[in-house]
Amino acid sequence: MRNTFRGGVHPKDRKDLSRSAPLRSYDATGEMVFPLAQHIGKPAKAVVKKGDRVLVGQCIAQADGFVSAGIYSSCSGVVKAVEKRRVISGTMQECVVIDNDGAYTPVASWDVKTDPATLSREEILDRVKNAGIVGLGGAGFPTHVKLMPKDPDGIRYVIANGAECEPYLTGNDQLMRTEAKTILEGLEITLRLFPHAVGVVAIEKNKPEAIEAMTQAARGMDKVQILPLPTKYPQGGERSLIQVIAGVDFPVSKLPADVGCIVDNVGTMYAIARAVQYQEPLFTHVLTVTGEAVKEPQNLIVRDGTSFRELVEAAGGVKDGVELKKILVGGPMMGMTLGSLDVPVQKTSNGLVLLNRDGSEEAQAQMTACLHCGRCTTVCPQGLMPQMMAEAAEAGDLERYEKKLYGLECVACGSCTYICPAKRPLTQTFKQVKSEIMAKKRAGGK
Ligand code: SF4
Ligand code: SF4
Repeated sequence: MRNTFRGGVHPKDRKDLSRSAPLRSYDATGEMVFPLAQHIGKPAKAVVKKGDRVLVGQCIAQADGFVSAGIYSSCSGVVKAVEKRRVISGTMQECVVIDNDGAYTPVASWDVKTDPATLSREEILDRVKNAGIVGLGGAGFPTHVKLMPKDPDGIRYVIANGAECEPYLTGNDQLMRTEAKTILEGLEITLRLFPHAVGVVAIEKNKPEAIEAMTQAARGMDKVQILPLPTKYPQGGERSLIQVIAGVDFPVSKLPADVGCIVDNVGTMYAIARAVQYQEPLFTHVLTVTGEAVKEPQNLIVRDGTSFRELVEAAGGVKDGVELKKILVGGPMMGMTLGSLDVPVQKTSNGLVLLNRDGSEEAQAQMTACLHCGRCTTVCPQGLMPQMMAEAAEAGDLERYEKKLYGLECVACGSCTYICPAKRPLTQTFKQVKSEIMAKKRAGGK
């Protein structure tokens, strides 16, 4: 194993705001909205209609194809509509809207435990698929697909990602402190699918309580190692973890499984344990509500479909006398700016960060020409040359961007933008260029 991955930065993490807030469940009071496209792949297909009564854990939209995931109601109530609603991205998307009755009547009790050792490989995969689990680290790739690589015998490492390197977020830290045993059950179940693999739980060293809890819970597990890692962003990127644990670099055109690794967030491991042992579908997950503008930062177990506005209230609202300047879903490095709080929590939403300053607005005001300092190249975990990529992008030379500078290898981690003294919006430029190139490819261009 290597000590660390290439590049990286040390942003102020502000985890102090919420790291001590214990996990608590939040039951929404308002209507619940479930977008049909909240994962990578084909959107789910609604299987309910206006007027239908639904219960907690009932399937309201089924997976449409192999790379897709079902959606389960997180409340009981009556379907109000299946219609277009605004979602996190700011676009209008087809959603199931449920008038929440507040009773939270479940469709099943999920208290009968099955020993995973009695289940075949196919039965385990079916249970994961039938639970609608997707990667909870933010990407939202359907988990059953990830667990079915071409060559299961070639998998050497199953990595439970508890790095949580994104500034401000502390939900996984709390989950590891309180649910260590269940996370490890999920890891052991996953290891059953890969007979030649060992399990590694990767945790940044800034989470000593989580490391301790996971270490205690893993005692006696021969095939599992708890691995504390240096605190450095983006430690939790799957490519960074694979560089460290398996010692390999690989292009974005390849998947972790192609280099013998399966990486799943610790929240996903928790969901796998519940799904396989109790057949409980995924309709809740951990989310941190935090930021300098929030009164009482929280680590919540939220129900999918809850309005973000309710979550702000659950955290005591905006601090008195503080101006709310920016709202992010996810953290400041890889999160998305939220235009309105009146949009629903999705399976992959792991943080709501309310800030009293807008860093990108400030950066725009201070932006200068490139100073050719080379810092962006030093910090890029992908070994790219962001300065040159930005020049090619600005000149519209997409050929050079892609073929000579390997710009499609950018994982949009934000490290170059963070370090740039000239405040250049590098990552934003790369995201735009990437979508332009991909759109051209889809249209049949080179
Ligand atoms: S955003 Fe892209 S180019 Fe910039 S540091 Fe991250 S991977 Fe490298
Ligand atoms: S860090 Fe910024 S100023 Fe320095 S070389 Fe890169 S783009 Fe130019």
